[in-house]
Amino acid sequence: MIPAFLVIGDANADVNGELTRFPHEGDDCPLRALGWSSGGSAANVATALALLGARARLLARVGVDPAAAVALRAAEAARVELDLVQRDAAIPTGICFAAVSPGGERTFFSHRGANSALDGGGPLDPLEGAGWVHVAGHALLEGSQRGVTLALVSEAGRRGIPVSLDLCLPLLRAAREIVLELVPRLAVLFANELELPALVGAPCIGDLIDLSLDRFSRDGGPLVAAKLGARGSRLGGRARANLPAFSVIARDTTGSGDAYVAGLLFAIARGAEPATAALLGNALGALTATRKGAAEALPSRDEARAFLEIHGAHGALPLLAAPASE
Ligand code: ADP
Repeated sequence: MIPAFLVIGDANADVNGELTRFPHEGDDCPLRALGWSSGGSAANVATALALLGARARLLARVGVDPAAAVALRAAEAARVELDLVQRDAAIPTGICFAAVSPGGERTFFSHRGANSALDGGGPLDPLEGAGWVHVAGHALLEGSQRGVTLALVSEAGRRGIPVSLDLCLPLLRAAREIVLELVPRLAVLFANELELPALVGAPCIGDLIDLSLDRFSRDGGPLVAAKLGARGSRLGGRARANLPAFSVIARDTTGSGDAYVAGLLFAIARGAEPATAALLGNALGALTATRKGAAEALPSRDEARAFLEIHGAHGALPLLAAPASE
């Protein structure tokens, strides 16, 4: 039996529009293709965990507009528990519009909408039944969402519930001090190759990832998982390991980072060694990169199993052997 996850952060409606050419201001520019999908890092991580067979509960806030259904569609289909999701009557659902140029370049227009207005909620205790709390970095960025998230992280600490955090660059720009204060209390810290050096203030010499990972203690503090895209991932802090990426033809890496987070956390919560957990994270990240879209690209447990078998990564297979809720 693995613990239930509480995932705190953003749920967004993602809109992808394929441009025939990038417009100038005031232009009237038809789109070649248009797609709506669920997005937002917290919704993606919760969805990926639920697809693996874990219990996942999402704490996020959406509006009362049509975009809310889009934001929550993938989570709902994966049976993420949505009882804590708040509805804001005044502020719209967060949205991220990606304008895709003919060459593949993406230009984003985004608004965090109701996400940052997350409040303390009603009578439900978000930590009730939670065995792990995961915070997607945007939750600490601004507004009442930051205060609610910090209070839950403190309360989780009091109750002995492990907490993980996935960084994002805007958070480091807005509140690096808050993150530095949190780090020693985390069980797992996730960061990519830009975020990790930005967090530790690594000098611009040599291998920034290794230099950054060296700053974390091996005796206390979190397991630090550095997500390195097509180079795989590296672990620091209480375990050191270098896990090369799986060789795949990447079509769209949107959602790969969230899939990696879910894979690693799922494995750690099942008692796996950190290197095996990162292997499962790499597999989920790579598999997600082979498909278009974010939430819709996240793999099921059977798809992840098949991927591990094809790529000879047998070490992580037992983690996906039986329903996690057995
Ligand atoms: P983030 O979006 O958070 O920066 P990454 O792009 O590093 O995250 O993706 C997370 C993980 O997904 C990587 O650590 C890697 O294991 C896997 N991944 C991402 N892109 C590729 C790729 N092109 N080929 C193989 N694996 C990939």
